[in-house]
Amino acid sequence: MFTLKPKTTAFMTALLLTIASQAALAVEFTSTRLSDTLTMLKGQGGNIAISSGKDGVFIIDDQLAPITEGLLEAIGKISDQPIRYVINTHYHGDHVGGNETIGKAGAVIVTHNNVYTRMNSEHFSTFMQTSTPAYPTDAMPNITFSDEATLHFNGEIATAYHIANAHTDGDALVHFPKSNVIHMGDLWFQGLYPYIDLDAGGNIEGVINGVNKALELANSETKIIPGHGPLGSYAELKAYGEFLTEATQSVRQLIAEEKNLSEIIALKPTAKWDETLGKVWIKPDQFVTMIYNSLQGIQEYKQ
Ligand SMILES: [Zn+2]
Repeated sequence: MFTLKPKTTAFMTALLLTIASQAALAVEFTSTRLSDTLTMLKGQGGNIAISSGKDGVFIIDDQLAPITEGLLEAIGKISDQPIRYVINTHYHGDHVGGNETIGKAGAVIVTHNNVYTRMNSEHFSTFMQTSTPAYPTDAMPNITFSDEATLHFNGEIATAYHIANAHTDGDALVHFPKSNVIHMGDLWFQGLYPYIDLDAGGNIEGVINGVNKALELANSETKIIPGHGPLGSYAELKAYGEFLTEATQSVRQLIAEEKNLSEIIALKPTAKWDETLGKVWIKPDQFVTMIYNSLQGIQEYKQ
């Protein structure tokens, strides 16, 4: 599925090695009930939302391909009904990995148009230094949308809103007004610096737009599922948006002062967050580079 190159970060190395040895891997899934219909499921990969009730099961994202059997077992503990719909928040392999098995079993897969396009061809990431081949037919979305799509299911609505050029060019966040829950996809990495997939049309300014859109839809009681990290609150997402805006503004200011990227990195414009957010995966210099590349319109990771 992936070609591993030496430049890959330690985190990704661990993740990719894990993928390579999946057969023997036992992933522990933990579920958190959010409302009468919704449950958040954590395993390995992007966080999942599960709607279960009279109409059956609908899920948002389905993690990594090799752990799908365990994922289906974990979903089976929440409901014995079939999975009828899947919404993928974007095309990354840790969010669409279960599509093939779940699609083959008959679920309808719904995504933004650009997720279909990305999944339908080989993709190279300049940051990961990995190549991902096109997905098999069973994994591909069945219904795609441009701006938004609403699913009426289990007595409530779920609306997926496309956020342009953010974490990728095909992101959607999903709002359940009745349950008062939002799934952010990778528009929110809670507790770590975000990854911006520049090769796939990602841009920090779109991520900020996505966070602001979610804050408009939410209220102080909304339960907010990040793509990665623990369940979050309105206040935590608001703080995240302020951090992104401030960090981006600092880099923008240094660009205006005609500093080049290595000078900007040396000035440590994200110093106040580096200890808390910069040690999990994306490092401070990588995050600053992603902001810089975004603001300069560079559509690859280029330091
Ligand atoms: Zn992602």
